[in-house]
Amino acid sequence: MLSVRDAEATILNSIQPLNNQQDIEFVDLLMANNRILATPVTSSLDFPHWDNSAMDGYAVRYADVQQARADKPAILEVVEEIPAGYQPQVTIKPGQAARIFTGAVMPAGADTVVMQEKTHRQDNRVFVFLAPQPQEFVRHKGDFYQAGGELLPAGISLTASEIAVLAAAQREQVCVFRRPRVAIFSSGNELVMPEEMLTTGQIADSNQYALATLVRELGAEVLLLGIIKDDPIALSEIIDYAIANSDVVLSTGGVSVGDYDYISKILASLGAKVHFRAVQMRPGKPLTFATFPNSLYFGLPGNPVSALVTCWRFVQPVIKKLAGLSQGWEGKFLKVRSQSELQSHGKMETYIHGKLHLVNGVYQFHKAEGNDSSGNLINLAQTNALAVLPVGKTLVSAGEEVLVLKL
Ligand code: AMP
Ligand code: MG
Repeated sequence: MLSVRDAEATILNSIQPLNNQQDIEFVDLLMANNRILATPVTSSLDFPHWDNSAMDGYAVRYADVQQARADKPAILEVVEEIPAGYQPQVTIKPGQAARIFTGAVMPAGADTVVMQEKTHRQDNRVFVFLAPQPQEFVRHKGDFYQAGGELLPAGISLTASEIAVLAAAQREQVCVFRRPRVAIFSSGNELVMPEEMLTTGQIADSNQYALATLVRELGAEVLLLGIIKDDPIALSEIIDYAIANSDVVLSTGGVSVGDYDYISKILASLGAKVHFRAVQMRPGKPLTFATFPNSLYFGLPGNPVSALVTCWRFVQPVIKKLAGLSQGWEGKFLKVRSQSELQSHGKMETYIHGKLHLVNGVYQFHKAEGNDSSGNLINLAQTNALAVLPVGKTLVSAGEEVLVLKL
């Protein structure tokens, strides 16, 4: 059976990232949170735009104050006051200074700022009691960024700090990748919508809600296609529609070896390349992965725990990478101490859901309490991590280290 690592490699090799010419849109800065920058950003402005003061104090000529001492202050004539936003009018000559405030433009002639705490003001004279360093507290034009260089690279997610940079560069809009489109449907004769009456043998379709929530959190656009009966014609029609209207299709159910598990046959009949139908993992073994020319198809197991675990493990990085993230799309695995004993029969890579707690700045893993059947979705609630036991590892004792996928 295909290992998790090989399954992952097959999937990652199949991704065709969005195109930075066609798959783009322009959004207002305040709507750009968590979007992925599609093209590098440059600016015609230097940062800072002009030499300015980093302190409230006095703009001086270094030569005038380099000998200043507490018992022998330099005494300068204050010839101008320069608040932030003001264009200085006067050139500072030997023996002169300008009162200046943080962020205000340095006047011609001055090269250094003395902080006001090191001075004493008397009428139009300022006493400087300490020699500064040359050019101290001056932020020079172009020190932080020089016009024409790359301000932000493509492929990054836009958060508060990047949006601040874009605003400072006077961008009103930003070019981002469109959101990847993910079609989701559930298959199973036993499934009803949450608002429908249940009769014996029926359950509410929870998978579609779980997957839609996760996929939206990842920044994708969701196309919900509902519940499809275990009927080859209905399934074939919906898959045909889904692949024509999305970048990624997620279905749950119908991928096992039962008499009603039709998905992989239908995929093949629609011309998909079915890469694999099983992965050496638990839960999640009957994961099916197929590709069409313009979309990826994940046939996830119907079991709610298996559906989410396979989605976290395989689909989550795919959506982030497909969306244009150049780095950081991979799953985040941490090595942490498990506070619970963890067991596996050793034949499959085993994923055990639970909770990461920060204790004195160090993560600890606790397995979810209650029945750990993979059909039990109830104890999935409030979990935020999956402990991973590799093939061959049958026991992690309490207190032992384990690799954990942080969700
Ligand atoms: P299947 O993969 O179709 O054999 O389904 C495996 C198990 O998952 C069965 O117990 C199904 O009833 C359950 N199941 C399948 N689809 C869903 C769904 N959308 N929501 C909740 N449970 C499901
Ligand atoms: Mg089924």
